[in-house]
Amino acid sequence: MYDTAIIGTGPAGLSAALNLKIHNKNVIWFGSKNICEKVALAEKVENYPGLPAISGKELAENFRRHAEEMGLEVTDKVVNTIVPMGKKFGILAGSDFCEAKTVLLTTGIAASGQIKGEAERLGHGVSYCATCDGRLYKGKRIAVICNAARLEHEVKFLAELVEHIDFFPYYKDTTVDLPNVTVHSTKPTEVFGDGHAEGLKLSDGSEIAINGLFCLRSSIALGNLIKEVETEDGHIKVDRQQQTNIKGCYAAGDCTGRPYQYTKSVGEGNIAAHSIIDYLAQEAE
Ligand SMILES: Cc1cc2nc3c(=O)[nH]c(=O)nc-3n(C[C@H](O)[C@H](O)[C@H](O)COP(=O)(O)OP(=O)(O)OC[C@H]3O[C@@H](n4cnc5c(N)ncnc54)[C@H](O)[C@@H]3O)c2cc1C
Repeated sequence: MYDTAIIGTGPAGLSAALNLKIHNKNVIWFGSKNICEKVALAEKVENYPGLPAISGKELAENFRRHAEEMGLEVTDKVVNTIVPMGKKFGILAGSDFCEAKTVLLTTGIAASGQIKGEAERLGHGVSYCATCDGRLYKGKRIAVICNAARLEHEVKFLAELVEHIDFFPYYKDTTVDLPNVTVHSTKPTEVFGDGHAEGLKLSDGSEIAINGLFCLRSSIALGNLIKEVETEDGHIKVDRQQQTNIKGCYAAGDCTGRPYQYTKSVGEGNIAAHSIIDYLAQEAE
């Protein structure tokens, strides 16, 4: 039986895997062999301390090399179900089954309510993070889809950078009222362009030209991997030790909530690893 099964090979999973490895824990790490693949999508990363203006590709390569040098191995499988079984967990990945004393969910955010063309252009004119990518569109024309009024401060932040925003709030009574923001009551149905986002099709049949599209959504986490896990606003609910409502089950990174950023994911992965180490020590007593 493994000490821990980590689900997810993004920055949160990597940070946890490194710390658990240093503490000689017996870990199975599920995800993609192409670790930190979302990181590679970032054109330029400006908020990772000590690595100013590193490209997403370079940062992802550094993460990959670090994992390799530490001898971390990835089980390249999607986990379908996790079943709490008393003091252990059953993990089903395709037709493979294994057991672990603890599990750590670092599954990132699952895109929900996507429009046509969005997934293919993520990192190519489509962004989910105003802080990360806003500066790339300085003086340009962008569109913003937003499904929660509490995210409007990000629209206002973007309005300070860009020339013009076509804004699509998916709720009533927006408070955004700025000279360079056009608030639409129609909805985008498709983002199109030759590789990069160049335009939006709207529900009234019209089209608008854009240089980029920001999708600000209170997203849905993959908490339904374990149906007993408690969620809040679509994210997995954790305490300051990254512990979920299920004993022995931890979560870290984007799946626990905003801000969706590398440093938060890495930090939470680290905390989760140390909580798991403490938990395993207590259980062994
Ligand atoms: C284009 C772009 C640019 C960005 N730029 C920046 C930036 O400049 N600065 C910044 O701080 N942040 C940026 N971000 C955000 C950053 O990428 C995320 O916050 C970060 O990757 C979250 O890390 P994570 O480990 O929580 O999740 P993720 O990186 O999303 O990793 C989750 C992993 O879990 C795996 N997984 C999910 N479900 C399962 C399952 N059932 N079984 C097995 N594996 C599973 C996924 O395949 C994935 O590998 C950017 C994001 C994008 C898309």
